[in-house]
Amino acid sequence: MAPRDGEAVGTFTYRFRPVHVAFGAGSLAQLGAVVASAGMRRVLLVSTPGRRGDVAAAKSVLGAAVAGVFDDAAPHVPAATVAMALVEARRAGADGTVALGGGSAIGLGKALALRADLPLVAVPTTYAGSEMTAIWGITDGEKKETGRDDRVAPRAAVYDAGLTLTMPAALSATSGMNAMAHAVEALYAPDAQPMATLFAREALRLLAASLPEVTRDPSDVGARERALWGAHLAARALDMTSMGLHHKLCHVLGGAFALPHALTHAILLPYVTAYNAPATEGAMADVAAALGAASAWTGLAALRQRLGVTATLRDLGLGPAELDRAADEAVARAYPNPRPVTREGVRAILEAAASGTAPRS
Ligand code: NAD
Repeated sequence: MAPRDGEAVGTFTYRFRPVHVAFGAGSLAQLGAVVASAGMRRVLLVSTPGRRGDVAAAKSVLGAAVAGVFDDAAPHVPAATVAMALVEARRAGADGTVALGGGSAIGLGKALALRADLPLVAVPTTYAGSEMTAIWGITDGEKKETGRDDRVAPRAAVYDAGLTLTMPAALSATSGMNAMAHAVEALYAPDAQPMATLFAREALRLLAASLPEVTRDPSDVGARERALWGAHLAARALDMTSMGLHHKLCHVLGGAFALPHALTHAILLPYVTAYNAPATEGAMADVAAALGAASAWTGLAALRQRLGVTATLRDLGLGPAELDRAADEAVARAYPNPRPVTREGVRAILEAAASGTAPRS
């Protein structure tokens, strides 16, 4: 929590990892200098298959520093993909990785940092925010292992809003709500502190204002920059705090049913926020204020509607049996959350998110 007027500042600790950030439309041109200042001379460029045009642009900026390209990154970082990328990194004699794309590409770069100590520079093209965190994940079969490790945190990130212009309105909306989820959970985390709160409040304000502009006109570079800066701040807040029920539920649903990551966040965020509301009034007041709404629930639900995200968990194919399984998995392991996590509570959240109805308080 950050102090409001008249409140005590409190006692807290926080860590703020050093990272070199280049921000602004056209910043891709700085990628070569950023990579060189990270001490990398021969990089493996990793991406997802859809970003070939951006990869070509990055290659022309990096020139001879590109020792190899691996553009088969996939959602949830499959272990087999990591193994193939490692072979390519070794074949190329790479001394570092440049990951260009959304969370899937950057997640692969982190896996290479974890497995082979290859330093990472990230060029994000969505609002997922992985470029600012030390959080990694690798999926083997149905099991997704995750952790935090400073070695995987990118040394530098190049934010060029020009690379986000191709994001369709639907992905912009859901990816933006993924970023908002980082900020919301940072506000009520057990290790929340004024620095993270400062970032989270500003992130929510920027994203709530810019996402409707971005979805109305995906080519609006100014709105794209405000959304990207909001996503950066939200990810910084996420990196400084512990994740709660919302992220846990999204991981469970993503892992068990291979749901699209950003859309799952966008569907669940208003419901999990409403569930936690009675236990975290200050954070809810911050969310409502950032969204200019009467409550966090009304603000997030209305924003989601305005962004055109109308899907429910049922639309994604989840029936009662899947919701039961997800509820069981979500309560199987303890994790921090402001309101105690009960199976009944989680099942009610999932039911509301499946039917698209307002949550029970
Ligand atoms: P993604 O990286 O899977 O991208 C989704 C799709 O959008 C892909 O097909 C990609 O090629 C395409 N795409 C990316 N940028 C685009 C652009 N500018 N224009 C058009 N298409 C574009 O999706 P995501 O939501 O960015 O990332 C999700 C993954 O990131 C999940 O695996 C999630 O667990 C992880 N993640 C990790 C962290 C962390 O801190 N470790 C944070 C957030 C998300």
